[in-house]
Amino acid sequence: MKQEDPAQLWSVCLSELRGMIPAQTFATWFERTKGHDVTPEKFTIEVPNPFSGERILKRFHDKISQVVTTQLGRQVSIDYHIFEGNTQIVPVLTDLPSYGPAPEQQAADEAETDNLYDNYTFENFVVGECNDFAHAASLAVVKSPGQQTFNPLVIYGGVGLGKTHLAQAIAHESKRLGTVDRIRYVTSEIFYSEFIESIQEKKTKEFAQTYRNVDLLIVDDIQFFCKGHKDRTQEEFFHTFDVLRQKGKQIVLTSDRIPKELSGLEERLVSRFEWGLLADMKAPDYETREAILQKKADKDGLSLSPDVIAYIADRVASNIRELEGAVLSLLAYASLSHCDITMDVAKRVLSNKIRRKQRAAGIEDIQKAVARHYDVSVEDLAAKTRKKHVVTARQIAMYLCRDMTRASLKDIGAIFGKRDHTTVIHACQTVKKLLLNDEHLQDDLEKIRNSLL
Ligand code: ADP
Ligand code: MG
Repeated sequence: MKQEDPAQLWSVCLSELRGMIPAQTFATWFERTKGHDVTPEKFTIEVPNPFSGERILKRFHDKISQVVTTQLGRQVSIDYHIFEGNTQIVPVLTDLPSYGPAPEQQAADEAETDNLYDNYTFENFVVGECNDFAHAASLAVVKSPGQQTFNPLVIYGGVGLGKTHLAQAIAHESKRLGTVDRIRYVTSEIFYSEFIESIQEKKTKEFAQTYRNVDLLIVDDIQFFCKGHKDRTQEEFFHTFDVLRQKGKQIVLTSDRIPKELSGLEERLVSRFEWGLLADMKAPDYETREAILQKKADKDGLSLSPDVIAYIADRVASNIRELEGAVLSLLAYASLSHCDITMDVAKRVLSNKIRRKQRAAGIEDIQKAVARHYDVSVEDLAAKTRKKHVVTARQIAMYLCRDMTRASLKDIGAIFGKRDHTTVIHACQTVKKLLLNDEHLQDDLEKIRNSLL
C-alpha cells in the first residue's frame, strides 16, 4: 500500500479478516471499528467500547496482527482505543491478566449487555396483530422471569420480523426495571465460538460458569446450532439450559423456524424448547406496516405524507427490515437533495427496491429458477411427465409459488398444467415434510430463493 491512510489500511485489512472469521461474528465485533492512526511503529484501531475492545483483543488480535503486517510489509504494534467525544482517546488494556477473577465473580462481570442495540426497546417496537402474542409474552417474561410456563420463551419467525428487536427489548427492560441481576445476551454463533475457544484454551469450566450463573439468558438465532457438526455445542447448551431452568432462571431463545422444524437439533433440545412458550412472529399486516413506517419516519425527523406511507406499505410487504430500508433511502435522498419527499420522489427513489421485489415474487421467475436449478425445462414443470426428478422440481416450484407469491392454490394449479388445487396442496405438504429432515433440499431451496433476490 503506497500511502498509509489508516482508514484505507483498515478497510483492506477488514476485507481480509472477513474471509477468516464467520460472517455473523465478524459483523458483531468489527462493524463499528475504524482505522484511526498509522505510524512507522504503530497502528491504532478505534473500537466502540471497552467490552468489544477486550473481546477483539482477546479473540482476534493474532489474526489482526498477521493481516496488518502483511498489508504494511512490516511489523507494527497494534493498539485498540476507544474514542470518547471528539478528542479523548482511552486505550483498551493490552495486557489482560492471565489469571482471571474467580469464576463466580467473572460470571457476574461477563453478564454483559453491552452488545445490545440501544434502539431495540419496547418503546420503539410497534405492536400489531402479527407480533402481538410474542410482544405480550416478552412483557410477561420481564415482569415475572423464570416462571415455568414461559420458560423458555421461544420467539420464532422469518427474517426481519423483529425477533432480535424483541429479544433485546426483554434485556433492556429487565435491566431497567431491575427484575433480574445478571443478563447475558448472545447470538448462538457467539455461544458457539466462545465454547470452541474455551475448549482450545482448556477453560470449559469457566465457560460453563459464565453461562450458568446468569438470571436471564437470551440466545438469538438458535437455528445456527443445527448447521454443520455442532454436537458438543448442543450438548453444552443442553446442560446450560437444564441448570438454568432448574434454578428457575429465565431463558429466551429466538429461531427462524418453529423448534420441531429445526432439523439437526438434538431431540432432547427440541422437546425442552417446547416446555415453555412458543411465540411466533408473522409478516406485518398492512396497518402495522403503516404504523412502523410512521414511527420510523418520525424518529428520523422525516416527514412523509399519508399517500407516500400508503404507497410503501402497499408494496413492501414481506418484512420490517425492508420497510426500514425504504425509509432510510428516502431519508438519505431528502438530506442530500434538501427536497421534500413527494409521491413522485418516493416512486423514483424506491423504484429499484420495489421493482425488484415484484419481480422476485413472480411465478414465472420461480418456474425459471427451479427449472434451471434442477436442469429441467419450464415446459416440463407444466407437462404431464411423471419422471421422478421432474415431479420433485414441479412440487418445489409449486411450494415456492405458494410461499413467495400471493397466487391462490387454484391459480398455481392452473399455471402448472391445469392441475387441480388439491395437487398443489399435496405438493406443498410433501415439500414441507421433506424439508424437516433433508438438508440437501434445504440448501437447494435457499439457493433458489437467493437466485430470485
Ligand atoms: P429478525 O431478528 O427477526 O430478523 P430484527 O429484530 O433484526 O428481525 O428486525 C429487523 C428490523 O426491523 C430492526 O431494525 C428492528 O428494529 C425493526 N423492527 C422489527 N419489528 C419491529 C416492530 N414491531 N416495530 C418497530 N421496528 C421493528
Ligand atoms: Mg435477528
